[in-house]
Formats: sequence, structure tokens, C-alpha cells
Amino acid sequence: MRRLVVALCSFALVLVSLTSVSAAAPPDLSYYSMRLPTGLTVADLIKDGYDVTHGTRPTVVATPAEAEQLRARGVVLGKTGDVYHPVSRSEPGGATYYGGYHTAAGHEQHNAAVAAAHPDLVKLYDTGDSWLKTQGQGGHDIQALCITKLAAGDCALNSTGKKPKFVLHTQIHARELVTGETAYQWIDLLVSSYGTDPEVTELMDTRELWVVPMANPDGVDVVASNPDRPVLQRKNVDDSAGGCPASDGGVDLNRNSSFQWNVNEGGPCDETYPGAKALSEPETMAIQGLLDKLFADTKGDIDDPAAASTTGVFLTLHSFGNDILAPWGYTNDDAPDKAALVALGKKMGALTGYPVSTGDGGVGYFAPGATDDWLYGTRGVPSYTFEIGPDGGSCGGFLPAYSCMASLFWPTLKPALMYAAQAAATPYGKLPITVG
Ligand SMILES: [Zn+2]
Repeated sequence: MRRLVVALCSFALVLVSLTSVSAAAPPDLSYYSMRLPTGLTVADLIKDGYDVTHGTRPTVVATPAEAEQLRARGVVLGKTGDVYHPVSRSEPGGATYYGGYHTAAGHEQHNAAVAAAHPDLVKLYDTGDSWLKTQGQGGHDIQALCITKLAAGDCALNSTGKKPKFVLHTQIHARELVTGETAYQWIDLLVSSYGTDPEVTELMDTRELWVVPMANPDGVDVVASNPDRPVLQRKNVDDSAGGCPASDGGVDLNRNSSFQWNVNEGGPCDETYPGAKALSEPETMAIQGLLDKLFADTKGDIDDPAAASTTGVFLTLHSFGNDILAPWGYTNDDAPDKAALVALGKKMGALTGYPVSTGDGGVGYFAPGATDDWLYGTRGVPSYTFEIGPDGGSCGGFLPAYSCMASLFWPTLKPALMYAAQAAATPYGKLPITVG
């Protein structure tokens, strides 16, 4: 429904301003904060096809026409910024787009280059295929890097290695540009600082630092297909359910895990479509398969706490809203380790300035079938979603200006990544002291 409205609107836009807007241009989109009238919920709007996102207040990404429709339903909207920011023109198919963000090809070149340049520090793994690759239509491998000062038995894709593991998992939602770029910079920090930065050196001597920079590379290709006005592709590109306009197909990989998967999350054209069944997507299988190898199950039934001896920390990066979300994400019931999960979350929150919440956390909807609930729920590993960035402005939303990586995001996130990696040794025990 929503895409039909978008398509009509962009058509109208072309008619009235042929001189400045090409037929291929994405529609004008802005962020609006929302105050909902009694009787209307965020979940209702998601069901109606609106692109509602996390945020300190509920935020919608809407065309001017959609904004008018919402106002007609009694929603009070406050425009917080436009989705697109001007960038100097760049050509499709390069290593970067939209002012400097890395394409899927750019990430893959980078992964190969750091692995080749640092054979003592990096192992690069192919954990599985993207949906397009399984169809023989191009596509990508789902790549993972293990970064450490490699000693015998390290990075062996098992749960019995000596070093506790920190896993950084990014760009499962392709349009959340900052997330993959943060992984890129984290990889560079680690490989370039070993032996010179004492804190990084200590980490690399004592931890396995796993990175999945692109959990949804087919989606990243769609996003980068217009390098000046990236396409807001959230899901993978599996359109096998049929019945959707091309821009609406795909499965929300962060609703597709085999933990608390919920068929009621939406139909095939919805942004939160969970797939025909749990674990239906090859990307989900690749990620779960990797994490399944890396972490032993230290947790019994769903209501049992994790063993106190559990090691590891998992962060999945998303945008936006300046939030840290701890399990559970599928319910407001307390996770059995809620106190400890929130305690570690608050340590990272002290470094990022993000509050920690659980359940629907004030955003008004749940995330059944998400990666973090799956890993905590099935293995006991403390697992968090970071929602990075403000609701609007040049550094806000899905598509911040690239300069915000240096001015805001990396300085904000680097200390939290360092902390999470340190905490991986005893996440349910004595936590490292937070400095700063
Ligand atoms: Zn996301």
C-alpha cells in the first residue's frame, strides 16, 4: 500500500518538476516525530505499511503525501529532517557511495586486503551465501573476520578456543549505513594498532574479535545502486513470496531467526516480513550457523538464566534512535538475566550516552525473531542491539552525511566496542570499569 502511494507521489513530482527531477529519482522523504491520538498505536501504523522506526519518540519516514494522510488520522507530526543529504556525485559500481560509505564490493575488497596484509592477525571466513547467490543470480558470500594475535587454536570456528569472543554484527538492515561503516573502521583500528596501542594490543592478545560487516550484502547492493540518493532497502531481496512491487519484496532478516519467530509480523510486502518460516533465508542460516559454532549453549530452557561462567558479548548495530536494547526484544516479560544484561548495557550506555531498554522499550513494537534474542535465548551470550544516531538532522536517520562518521559516530562507538570486547571475558561476573 505504502509503496503504491510513494510511486504515485514520485510520479506527480516528476510531472510538476521535470526540469530538476529525473524519472529514476527516489521520492522526497523526510523524518517526522509523531504524537499519536488515542486508539492509534505504532504497531497499527506498521501494519498499515508506514515506515515507523526506533527513536526516543516514534519516528516515521514519509513522503509529503503520506504525512498529510497521517495528519488526517489525527497524528501530530514534527518534521525532524530530510532523508537525503547532498553529496558530490559518484558513479555506481565503485568501492564507495553517498560521500564515502563502502559498497558491498568495497567491503569485500577491504576484507580481502586486511586478511592478506595481516596473516598473523586476521582469518577471513565465508559463512554462507546471500539469497541472490543461492539463486545463481550473482549475490555474495556472507563474510566474517576473526581478528586476534593468532596463536595455535585461535579463530578455529569452535566454542572451545581459549580466548573469549566479541562479535560485531552489522548492516543486517541494509539502509542503516552507519552500521557497516563502523565495522569497517573497527577492523582498521584493530589491524593497524596491534603492537602500538596498548589497549588494542591487550585485547588482541586475549580475545577473538569477530566481525560480520555485511549481514545483508544483496540489500547493500540495492542501497548503493543510486550512489547519490541511496535506496532505503531494509530487507534482503528474496521476492519468492511474490505479490509485491519490486521495491517491497524481501524478508526482514532481523525477524527471521528460529527463536520466537512470529508469522504475525507482517505480509510479504511489509518492512518486517519475517519470511515464510523461521530460518527461511540463507543469510539467517549463515549468521546462526556461525554463532552456533562460536558459542556453547550455557543456558537451559527459556526461563533459565545463563551459566555464570558464560563468555562472549554480541552487538548487532542498527540505526537509528540513540538506544541500547537488551533482551528480551520479543516480549515485555523479564529475561532471566535481565539485571545483569541491563547492567552491562548501562556500562556501554555510559560511553555512548544511549539509554538502555528492554521489551518494546517505549518504541511501541517488539522484534520477534531478532538475532540478539536468538543468541541470548539459545546460548546465553549477552546480546544487544544498538540503535545508532539521532532522529533527524544531518547526522540523523538512516542516511547521515558521511562526515558524521568522523565527527560523531566513530568517537561515540569506539569506546563502547572496546568495552564490549573487554567485558566478553566475564560478562556475568565482574565488569570492567567504565572510564569516561
Ligand atoms: Zn535495523
